[in-house]
Amino acid sequence: MSEADQKSDLNSEILRLKQQIARQLDAARRNERIHNRFQDIELALLSAQDFTEIDNYLQTEFKQSLDLAAVSLVLLDVDNKISSAICPVNGRCEYSSGILITNQLSEMEFLKSLGPSSFLSHYQAAEHQWLFQGIEDEQGSIVVLPFIRREQLIGCLAFFSDDSSRFQSDAGTEFLQRLAAVTTICVENCLNYEQLRRLGLTDALTGLANRRELEKWMNIEISRSLRETSSLSCLYLDVDHFKNVNDSYGHDVGDQVLQKVATVMMNAVRAGDVVARYGGEEFVVILPGISGSVALETAERIRCAVADSNIEIDGQPPLTVYISIGLASFVPMKDSIGDSNVIAEKLLTRADHALMKAKEQGRNRVVVAE
Ligand code: GH3
Ligand code: MG
Ligand code: MG
Repeated sequence: MSEADQKSDLNSEILRLKQQIARQLDAARRNERIHNRFQDIELALLSAQDFTEIDNYLQTEFKQSLDLAAVSLVLLDVDNKISSAICPVNGRCEYSSGILITNQLSEMEFLKSLGPSSFLSHYQAAEHQWLFQGIEDEQGSIVVLPFIRREQLIGCLAFFSDDSSRFQSDAGTEFLQRLAAVTTICVENCLNYEQLRRLGLTDALTGLANRRELEKWMNIEISRSLRETSSLSCLYLDVDHFKNVNDSYGHDVGDQVLQKVATVMMNAVRAGDVVARYGGEEFVVILPGISGSVALETAERIRCAVADSNIEIDGQPPLTVYISIGLASFVPMKDSIGDSNVIAEKLLTRADHALMKAKEQGRNRVVVAE
């Protein structure tokens, strides 16, 4: 080979190497940008304290930063523990649509079938639509990042891009795997936090809302009632001669009776009504949106459900207990104004007076406040 040829070969080799270095530099810079972006995302997720914060973040900065059309956080709720922690008061949830809590067998099986690693795929509406509320696109691509906690699948983070070629099954998933691990920790933190929060909101014996939580919901419902000129009713319930149950069967049986009465009440109201243990053997139910004969029918339904429930306690013949109920309603006029705290207090006092009358009149009955 001539010297000129050798020189030319060398030059083209140098050029090839320069191009290779330039490409690798580009790739390194791109990876650094992605790394920084994911690091920001991970830090933001780790600083979220509860599901409201995660949800807000996912639906705003996260979605923008990754240029996504939809993001969902899916939680598998095998034994209803998650929904009772997140939506402690009679299934009332304070979270928005970005959090999907499912106990549907088909949905859980589908997620399990994807395996433990991140799953990237073309979007197929028939299979994937349930993951993304409100997405009507027929085309796109998705990522599903499973959350595995102690070898159990507890949920996933799912995102959707309307670009069909963006997430493909053969793409590198290093960043996504990390994101899945970080989000799992974050979800676990939030679940622990929610469980603690729930302990502060509910009554330990019955699992019903406690008095403080009842006051919060009364305020919320009365404010809504004023805003929407819709009525609201309040029931004050008390177990009749409950002291006799304790005296005859002992305090433990008394506790079991209270638990059973709480369950019967919960089953007798609509989703969205608030049932609370007000103290001892006294309960309060808020019935938003109803008054008059409908509220009276509801109160009678609860009273009969308790009276008809044969309470089974180990080794004892079934027990029957009765309850008395005072019913008071709040019916706002158009453009009514008022302090919801004051209205709540008055409503509760009226219901309590009606309850006292029910006791005087012989118990096991409903009395409507004047
Ligand atoms: P009335 O029909 O007038 O309501 O009679 P009562 O016996 O139900 O009412 P009283 O106020 O005399 O007694 C209520 C009893 O409820 C007394 C109290 O020891 C009992 N109690 C309060 N809280 C609990 C509890 O958490 N567990 C048990 N087992 N008993 C409780
Ligand atoms: Mg009492
Ligand atoms: Mg009583």
